[in-house]
Amino acid sequence: MSAAPKLVESIAGLRSVLAESRHPGAVAGFVPTMGALHAGHAYLLEEGRKGSDILVASVFVNAIQFNQREDFERYPRTLDADLAICGRAGVDIVFAPSHAEMYPEPSRTFVDVEGLTEHLCGRFRPGHFRGVATVVTKLFQIVQPDRAWLGEKDAQQLAVIRRMVRDLNMPVEIIGVPTVREPDGLAMSSRNKHLSPADRAVAPAFYRALQAGAALVESGASNPAEVLRLVQKALAPYPELRIEYVELVDPDSIQPLERISGSALLAAAVWLGSTRLIDNILCRR
Ligand code: AMP
Repeated sequence: MSAAPKLVESIAGLRSVLAESRHPGAVAGFVPTMGALHAGHAYLLEEGRKGSDILVASVFVNAIQFNQREDFERYPRTLDADLAICGRAGVDIVFAPSHAEMYPEPSRTFVDVEGLTEHLCGRFRPGHFRGVATVVTKLFQIVQPDRAWLGEKDAQQLAVIRRMVRDLNMPVEIIGVPTVREPDGLAMSSRNKHLSPADRAVAPAFYRALQAGAALVESGASNPAEVLRLVQKALAPYPELRIEYVELVDPDSIQPLERISGSALLAAAVWLGSTRLIDNILCRR
């Protein structure tokens, strides 16, 4: 059993705890989350634990990255359980600020990462990545980590943050962590809690369809349209899974591929009932 993490709710409090406990030369690691932690987050935290001397996790449901008020309001909030997961993973400090602490007045400053947000989720969630890039910048300013761990489950977010860090010379190393899945293949997500039992039973077909597409890419297919057709065909028997997008893009620039010649990110979003699921496979060859 590891010691319970220290819960800090104010920016000033976090700065003073870090000033006391961050010895010179110590590597400060950071895992930003929106809470409702599951085994996917736990894996990020464990990787973070291995790669840092002092590990901070944040739990903050960031209103400015939600483009639907209802999605923000019904986002699960489970701080006590989150603290227990952070404790088991060996997190030193959990930073869980309120909205007013992070946004005491409406922001007039935003971080926009251009180009990488035109496709995939960016096309359907206007302002989402601006909200993400802005809050991650604020959190990096507050925590000042040397390293941060982000999930490949949110591949576009990972590409956006990597690019932002490069473009703005932020002194933090970004480490991507593979997606943790349920035994039936469904990517773990805090939003899976909203699925009805019937929808939950259908959900694994989403990843299976992506796997079929990825297998075609890995077997040498060069035409993206052929791959996308196969994914759509694999989803067709499940009308409950309503496709928002399926795309094959370059994993760094998030631009659609005209021809597959190297690595390709096969990414999709579907609606299942009133829940939106995203998933992706990075195809290498
Ligand atoms: P969220 O709380 O959903 O904002 O996610 C916080 C971090 O956990 C992000 O970097 C996500 O990409 C990552 N994450 C979410 N789900 C998973 C998963 N199933 N496997 C690995 N990482 C994940």
